[in-house]
Amino acid sequence: MVKFKRTVLACVLLIAPSLAQGPATFHPGFNLFSRQQDIQLGQESAAQVRRQMQVVRDPFLSDYVSRVGRRLANTPEARASGFPFTFEVVADRSINAFALPGGPMFINTGLLKAVDNEAELAGVMGHEMSHVILRHGTNQASKAQAIQLPLMLGSRIAGGSMLGRLGQLGIGLGANSVLLKFSRTAESQADLMGSHLMAESGYNPMAMARFFEKLSSQGGSRGLQFLSDHPNPGNRERAIEEEADKLPRRNYGYETGEFERMKRVVGGIHEPPPRTQAGG
Ligand SMILES: [Zn+2]
Repeated sequence: MVKFKRTVLACVLLIAPSLAQGPATFHPGFNLFSRQQDIQLGQESAAQVRRQMQVVRDPFLSDYVSRVGRRLANTPEARASGFPFTFEVVADRSINAFALPGGPMFINTGLLKAVDNEAELAGVMGHEMSHVILRHGTNQASKAQAIQLPLMLGSRIAGGSMLGRLGQLGIGLGANSVLLKFSRTAESQADLMGSHLMAESGYNPMAMARFFEKLSSQGGSRGLQFLSDHPNPGNRERAIEEEADKLPRRNYGYETGEFERMKRVVGGIHEPPPRTQAGG
């Protein structure tokens, strides 16, 4: 049996490169939510995040992450999604970022402190943005609650808060939420689409691969938070490298020019003590 599996795997590995020539293309999977419901859910969830986490109101930092984010959001795949992306910094020492359905993205100060260049930050943000574009959160919720969701999403009597309605099905923002903790398939897609968004923005996609490699080799417990929300789909760095090779040749020299200043500003921010459970 083991031998048979190895043989099949060897064949797949031999055939795969000749079948897959161009860059990968992805489309959102099965989903019971409308796009508008993705946006509503994300906005309600973002309001909850702002109540529970410490949003950093520094105008320079907000502007900095928005500049990087808008550059990624201005690429064809991101624009085609039609989602209104927003970018905020939260004072949290774990090396992480997360994006809610429909567009709101939160970037931890721990991540800003951990990146060695702007392309690494763009890599994590491009990866998060890809989860939004591919609607992975509501896709996973749809698969988990395919029986009850149609009634609940179609119901007008409940009205009001979508987060409240979903809460009755056990769907929320807590630890291991289906909205924020992704499958390996979703991870693989977000890695590859993220590499496209980076390349189209002028950032070298290899920086994403290098950052993930760094996290898994020396991230420590703070870095493992990102990897626990975004599990390694397997051969992560190599898959990103191979995808980057399939993209049209470009100059990857883009930078806002504000990276060093960002590092100085974020270096002065002291995060609150770690919470027992992020997101509440
Ligand atoms: Zn991910």
